[in-house]
Amino acid sequence: MDIDEAIFELGESSSAYFGAATPPLIQSNNFLFDNVEQMKYALQNEHEVPFYTRGSNPTTNMLRKKMAALEKTEDALIFSSGSAAISSAIIHQVASGDHILCVQKPYSWTGKLLSSLLPKFGITFTFVEGTLDSFKNACQANTKLLILESPNSWTFELQDIEPIVKFAKEMSLVTLVDNSYATPLNLNPADYGVDLIAHSSSKYIGGHSDAVSGVLCGSKEMIMGIFKSEFMTLGGTISPFNSWLLLRGLRTLPIRMDRVAETTPAIVSFLESHPKISQVYYPHAASHPQHDLALKYLKKPLGQFTLCLATDDMEKVEAFCNHLTVFKLACSWGGYESLAFPAITLYDSLNYSQATTPFNMVRMYVGLESKDTLINDLTQALVHV
Ligand SMILES: *Cc1c(COP(=O)(O)O)cnc(C)c1O
Repeated sequence: MDIDEAIFELGESSSAYFGAATPPLIQSNNFLFDNVEQMKYALQNEHEVPFYTRGSNPTTNMLRKKMAALEKTEDALIFSSGSAAISSAIIHQVASGDHILCVQKPYSWTGKLLSSLLPKFGITFTFVEGTLDSFKNACQANTKLLILESPNSWTFELQDIEPIVKFAKEMSLVTLVDNSYATPLNLNPADYGVDLIAHSSSKYIGGHSDAVSGVLCGSKEMIMGIFKSEFMTLGGTISPFNSWLLLRGLRTLPIRMDRVAETTPAIVSFLESHPKISQVYYPHAASHPQHDLALKYLKKPLGQFTLCLATDDMEKVEAFCNHLTVFKLACSWGGYESLAFPAITLYDSLNYSQATTPFNMVRMYVGLESKDTLINDLTQALVHV
């Protein structure tokens, strides 16, 4: 199925809802039945027949079909957040005594699930550098799950997914990739045999900074296992309204991704030649140490990078950030507005020496403004460094 068909047609039937141009929002938590037989059928097929919205909902099911098609998997589940999708996927694969291998510096709350919450249940983990050898060396007899995030945040380190997944299959490990950054348009981990693909659809897929949500894609069997267990018991269900917002956001995903593929590399090369910038971390820049992996795995350049200011004066970092006007100061990313996230906000203000992210780093997200507007904003803010 091609991308346009998945985004604009799959799961929709406008004649069934008065020819409406947009998909219907079924903002109902409950569904009514004419007779016992109908009710019984719905209960037994709760994963796809509307019965109670914690299980499934017609608006959410449209999104679910589209996401599965875009990720080239058999099925998908939509969650209330990316973190709910990731934690449900992880918890499903492990039991007390099991071990998890995870690339170092994953999304912060994925890391905290592994380091703070799962040890309470006797589940251990190892963070590794991300090379094939690092996974091989840290694999244990009780390892069950291998987690990738390519690229990860801040420094945008990539993993060579293909050989790592091959190794995981040899060891009978389940593989999970957080694909939020690339989106299904730029990378389909299922092409390399990855079992579970997670998204924070709060980011690019939603695209309008208005809905927190998550997606998990995989085989029918694996997704059904998670549906019957973690999805229904932990209850990280999305609101139908948020699914509707995501259906709307998804329709412009291809043009939004085309826009940032054009503007971001130009902004990065402007910064790389600016005397007040010491380094830029961007997978599609030739200067990125894993540029070859970016070319192998990411179809187009994306809209996030991290810049390092050429200063060791914390106040100048703060002045640069405070003088940005088009780039707004905020965490997260994926909406239409450009953002800056200074590493200094992560620190206990009295204890910079303990921080792991250098204080001159600012993570930048390029929204939908023109490259000239954004370069002008950076130019005037860099005067203060
Ligand atoms: C934001 C984010 C998450 C968490 O998603 P939420 O929707 O905020 O729960 C997970 N992974 C990555 C890479 C993210 O950027």
